[in-house]
Amino acid sequence: MKKNGLLYLMIAGIVLGIFSGWMFGNMMLAVEWIGEMFLDALKMLVVPLIISSMIVGIAGLGDIRKVGKTGFIALSYFLITTCIAVGIGLVMVNIIEPGVAVEMTVEQVPDKVVGKESVAITDILKSFVSPNLVQSMANMEILPLIMFSLVFGGVLTTLGEPGKRAIDFFDTVNAAIMKIVHLLMYFAPIGVFALIASKLGAAGGGDLFLAELAKIGKYVTTVISALLIHGLVVLPAILYMITRRNPIIYFKNVVGALTTAFSTASSSATLPITIDCAEKNNQISRKSCLFVLPLAATVNMNGTALYESVAAMFIAQMLGIQLGLGDQMIIFLTATLAGIGAAGIPEAGLVTMVMVLQSVGLPLEGIGMLLSIDWFLDRCRTTINVWGDSIGAGVLDNLEEKWVERGGKN
Ligand code: ASP
Repeated sequence: MKKNGLLYLMIAGIVLGIFSGWMFGNMMLAVEWIGEMFLDALKMLVVPLIISSMIVGIAGLGDIRKVGKTGFIALSYFLITTCIAVGIGLVMVNIIEPGVAVEMTVEQVPDKVVGKESVAITDILKSFVSPNLVQSMANMEILPLIMFSLVFGGVLTTLGEPGKRAIDFFDTVNAAIMKIVHLLMYFAPIGVFALIASKLGAAGGGDLFLAELAKIGKYVTTVISALLIHGLVVLPAILYMITRRNPIIYFKNVVGALTTAFSTASSSATLPITIDCAEKNNQISRKSCLFVLPLAATVNMNGTALYESVAAMFIAQMLGIQLGLGDQMIIFLTATLAGIGAAGIPEAGLVTMVMVLQSVGLPLEGIGMLLSIDWFLDRCRTTINVWGDSIGAGVLDNLEEKWVERGGKN
């Protein structure tokens, strides 16, 4: 099937999913299993894809100094765009003030975050290493897998011919996984349809959704408008300024990944399709895709960080707590870290939000007010996360190319 045909079918899948979930509510739970199958099939590819991608990616970069430089530039880029996103969130929440005159009605700390009170910045750092790699794979803990694969790939490059043979093996594994991704893409339209329809149906269909919206509509508007400013203005501007690529065409080429992100609410599960769209449609070099995108899907969460800053301010506003510039600076920093620390799985942002709220002494009960609509906002922020990752791959690939052209090749 032509690339565009599949793309239109995926968009149709989303639209039809929203329509059916809206109209038929609970009845759409009947297709939940189809969505789950699609999601599981994607997840099934994530672990072998990340391991092989990072090993091949790092080997493609070659010299260890170059790896350090590329990694440093990538992480700096992720940090800068995340800070911009949080800044936009804070400006918007101060202008719209969605929490003023909203009564906080939830009195309990939601189950989701109970016991997470002691999650600290050091825990985020600790999550880079795992005592048991197999367990990390089973639990889809991506960060330790990335770390291990980076070191493993790096070491392979120092082992001469036997090391090269091992790298070739992982290269073939990677190519095979990507072939499976291509096959899976044919099921994507029906998969995204089923995921969206059953999720909206489980949330009670259109009527209940509207009722939830009416309660905290201003909050939803604040989050979505801030996400849109970041996604439609800031990120495309960065892409254009650095690469001179047309953001509209670039966007069209990654719609497959964005629709998958919206329907799965998981950057990690979307990763196989993000890589596919970047490499095949946007012609980003393979080594950049393989090195940058797994890293980005795990640590570059512009949408999540933005969301966390808005949510924390919303809770403060509901409680009538005035947060001055100092406190907002603390939110700025912790929301950025919380975005980096959040896993690429559904509603992970709610858990890292504990850190943000605690840093300025806000009650965790506030998260309860956000729960009812989080399934929807999670999808919106995940879409921006994946859009940010895709643009990041394009920008970093271009910077790398320019560097090589300037004679930076080792
Ligand atoms: N679901 C988001 C992602 O996978 C993380 C979050 O914000 O909850 O990118």
